[in-house]
Amino acid sequence: AAEPLAPTIESARKVLKKYYGYDAFRPMQEDIISNIMGGHDTVVLMPTGGGKSICFQVPAVVQEGVCIVVSPLIALMKDQVEALKANGIPAAYINSSIGSSEANNIAADCLNGHLKLLYVSPEKLLSDGFLSFLKRLKVSMFAIDEAHCISSWGHDFRPEYTQLRVLREQFPQVPIIALTATADRLTRRDIQQQLRLTKPKVFLSSFDRPNLNLIVRPGQDRVGGILEFLERHQGEAGIIYCLSRKQCETLAQKIQAKGIKADYYHAGLTPNQRGAVQEGFLKDDLQVIVATIAFGMGIDKSNVRWVIHYNLPKNIEGYYQEIGRAGRDGTPATALLFYSFGDVMSLRDMLTKENPQLNQLNLTKLERMQQFAEAAGCRRRILLNYFGETLPHDCGNCDICRNPPTTFDGTEIAQKALSALVRGRERLSISLLIDVLRGMRNQAVLSGGFDQIKTYGAGRDLPYLDWYSYVHQMLNDGLVYIAYEEGYALKITDLGREVLQGQRPVSMKKFQPAEKAEKKPRGR
Ligand code: ADP
Ligand code: ZN
Repeated sequence: AAEPLAPTIESARKVLKKYYGYDAFRPMQEDIISNIMGGHDTVVLMPTGGGKSICFQVPAVVQEGVCIVVSPLIALMKDQVEALKANGIPAAYINSSIGSSEANNIAADCLNGHLKLLYVSPEKLLSDGFLSFLKRLKVSMFAIDEAHCISSWGHDFRPEYTQLRVLREQFPQVPIIALTATADRLTRRDIQQQLRLTKPKVFLSSFDRPNLNLIVRPGQDRVGGILEFLERHQGEAGIIYCLSRKQCETLAQKIQAKGIKADYYHAGLTPNQRGAVQEGFLKDDLQVIVATIAFGMGIDKSNVRWVIHYNLPKNIEGYYQEIGRAGRDGTPATALLFYSFGDVMSLRDMLTKENPQLNQLNLTKLERMQQFAEAAGCRRRILLNYFGETLPHDCGNCDICRNPPTTFDGTEIAQKALSALVRGRERLSISLLIDVLRGMRNQAVLSGGFDQIKTYGAGRDLPYLDWYSYVHQMLNDGLVYIAYEEGYALKITDLGREVLQGQRPVSMKKFQPAEKAEKKPRGR
């Protein structure tokens, strides 16, 4: 192996140039790498395509020893290691797909200091004897990829990840770098707590993707809508996400029948078939992929021009991740979502069957997704709010901004709700808040003593569903947020306080039941 360089940012830049051919770090990469090379625990939140890999790969090359990368996806591991090797960086991976003689060779390479990066699955890392094997090596750091998998609040919980806390116990001196493309407030907290990170520096890069045009359309005649869309986007590569395998197959056939090079992709295909479809898409032999969410993880294709959701996704994290596969080159791209209330109903059933324990959490997340689809305000602001970021102005690049719905002054409505929250000491969930506002006399209201507060019954004039819509608009506008960990209580944000103090007006969209809204003809 080459002599280790002194761990300075200059040597990191040299490595970037020598092995990757890039002239400069992206702004945040440089700060992250300096922090890592300073030996500190680090949390990196950066959208897909932001350049997370380089953040740990470059320090791994610069520093002495081997960097252990924990990654949940076996397919991705292989790709990443092959890419590293192609760049001349000694790397390997160990997971269930590796035979024992190969594993022995890799172990020998580790022991003689040959490898700079070793990728392992969490199962392998935690398996018998592996940690004691690591103790015989000089480990430069642990990089935990897809770190959101550690949190049951996140959308991709992997129980094995929660055992990664042993890393800090067994290797107290080795810095830990956690990386993810999606983490809301609670997931971030879990990452820090569960990995036992010591005063980590958190790097949060903006989740805004201003080049994505966000559009939601009512869900009638989805196939017709898609074929029409394809006519307007001839030759542009794109992905259509469907819920079921069957849907993928039928839709792909209908698109093929129009003479468009399309194919489908789902977990029911053999690994060879999947590989072939992926390859065809990467090489531009296929223009359209109709897929379940199984497709897209780790696909690095910069010229995907659009993503269509045939069905409503289960939550905003998933939606954001999937639309993020379009427009990675930064030039204009489209994210089109078809929405009908029926989708919400079938997803509800599905989630309830899937995991009864996480039912309430998943249903709450689904509600946020539904409200995004039914939104009255700028969709990009809703997305960014969801990830705890605020955009101070409307984006101008979503269907709502381009074609705003009629709104009314909802300041007073918002103030009533906010005031009830304050007087209820921010212990009210959405449904309890509405019950209090409407002066209901049920168990939850009475036992909390909420019938005694001044705003009790202040919203009697409006039906439940109207309030439901207005409270969700307030969530979408970032006036309140849900503290899942405190019985789903609504909490008021700084923005919400400004509204309460009369410093900021609120505009709202009149509530219209989804079924009614859908009877309107589809706009062309
Ligand atoms: P992520 O893991 O965050 O999804 P990657 O690490 O795969 O992102 O990086 C996305 C793309 O950006 C890759 O093609 C990568 O080579 C490229 N990239 C990363 N950092 C730089 C840089 N400093 N200069 C130019 N390209 C970069
Ligand atoms: Zn907008």
